[in-house]
Amino acid sequence: MDYNLNLRAIFWRVEKLYGDREIVSRTHEGIHKYTYSDFALRVRKLSSLLKEKGLVGEKVASIAWNTHRHLELYFAVPLMGGILHTVNVRFHPSEMEYVIKDFGDKAVFMDKDIDYKSDLPTYIFDEKYDEEVNSREPISNIPDIDEREGAIACFTSGTTGRPKGVVYSHRSVFIHSLSLLTADALGISSNDVVMPVVPMFHISAWDVPFASLMTGAKLVLPGPRPKAEDLVNLIKEYKVTIAVGAPTVWIDVVNYLEREKKDLSPLKVVVTGGAEPPVGLVKKLKEFGVKTYHAWGMTETEAIATLNKNDERISEQGYPIPGVEISLVDLEGKELPWDGKSVGELVVRGAFVTKRYSNAQTQSEKWFRTGDVVKVNPDGSIKVVDRLKDLIKSGGEWISSIDLENAIMSYEKVLEATVVAVKDERWGERPVAVVVKKPGVEVTAEEIIEYLKSLNRFPKWWLPDKILFVDSLPKTSTGKLDKKVIREKVREMLGNP
Ligand code: AMP
Repeated sequence: MDYNLNLRAIFWRVEKLYGDREIVSRTHEGIHKYTYSDFALRVRKLSSLLKEKGLVGEKVASIAWNTHRHLELYFAVPLMGGILHTVNVRFHPSEMEYVIKDFGDKAVFMDKDIDYKSDLPTYIFDEKYDEEVNSREPISNIPDIDEREGAIACFTSGTTGRPKGVVYSHRSVFIHSLSLLTADALGISSNDVVMPVVPMFHISAWDVPFASLMTGAKLVLPGPRPKAEDLVNLIKEYKVTIAVGAPTVWIDVVNYLEREKKDLSPLKVVVTGGAEPPVGLVKKLKEFGVKTYHAWGMTETEAIATLNKNDERISEQGYPIPGVEISLVDLEGKELPWDGKSVGELVVRGAFVTKRYSNAQTQSEKWFRTGDVVKVNPDGSIKVVDRLKDLIKSGGEWISSIDLENAIMSYEKVLEATVVAVKDERWGERPVAVVVKKPGVEVTAEEIIEYLKSLNRFPKWWLPDKILFVDSLPKTSTGKLDKKVIREKVREMLGNP
């Protein structure tokens, strides 16, 4: 039988199997709770509204936080044959305008705190919007969309040039969600309470909402600008068992817990990725009774593509999850061995690796080049060494900025740190560290260098030439350290324009 792996097939489960399960959402108006049945009815009504407004099969933009209203669009738009284009709420209005025009959206749905005015029909999430949806007749027939059609899309963060649109098909959402559910991956079950803190405006919150709904897990959506306190309160109040977010989120949470003398129970698992979690963070989470799953992925791999659940080797990015293959190549594309020593570029292919960008660039090569420099262990677990563009080349040899950053961050007086290359006449490039110290402590550059030496891990020429102290580190719109801005800042601080 030809069976389309589309969102209709997930929605069928939501409606028919798990009607009594709950979705909790922190909104601008307070906590909103309803069941999967209520949710499904709203999706059908919203589908009606889309039909009435001529938005069937069209591209539709959302600029929104993690809430139930956003989740309703996640289903209604693709169920009706359109593509939901999730726009990053942290984009500058001119960037929002650019991506919405570039993608060809026909309408905009957004939260009420978003600073953006569009020429397109705009729907703002508020009580009036809710009434407008509620007053529609629920749609009765949901079409069986071809699984290769686009369902959801987002743009890369564009740190190296204009952002590019990446479209995820129904099939890739279905297969990725299924892969996330497997026991050796996230292993989410219908007994879990899942809280995706990763934003729904970027890579569909790593598909965690789709996977959770596919298996009937209770979903807790943390809403607009959640702070550590909000997250801890939600975990306690709604008994969250699995929470998903970037390392910076959990650094803030752990600091908050220590300050307020609180704990994290009943949370069992934190899934983190997007950057390597500092070992100190993983240790702290363990002290709070929480296990860390370390994920690697990128916009072009629909987020999570490899996963590591082994405490002993938690700095590794882990094994490819079902549906994705990896290979290690040198700069000429020649295959390198999986010996845990050879360093090369990671290339990937699979059911949820992108093959197209919205501006019609096709991925002609069979493998997608990630731009990440890695080692692969004989057992297939990867270890990211650096981004190709962030490696520091000193005297013809490579220095990993990530290795140094993690070592500096393992020092107890350091909150955050990054290492970038600065030009050097003699060596070509040299590493400079930029450090944010923990509040209320004093720390000197010499102390940090002594600490690095005491680790006995780095050759002398790896040690940063300078350590600069700042109050905070600039982040990109997806919460990653913005090395482009940091490099400029370092140049300024060193009086070297
Ligand atoms: P983005 O497409 O903006 O999500 O960025 C993807 C990039 O983030 C990857 O190519 C990696 O360089 C980096 N990244 C993602 N996950 C990890 C991780 N677990 N450890 C180290 N780097 C990561």
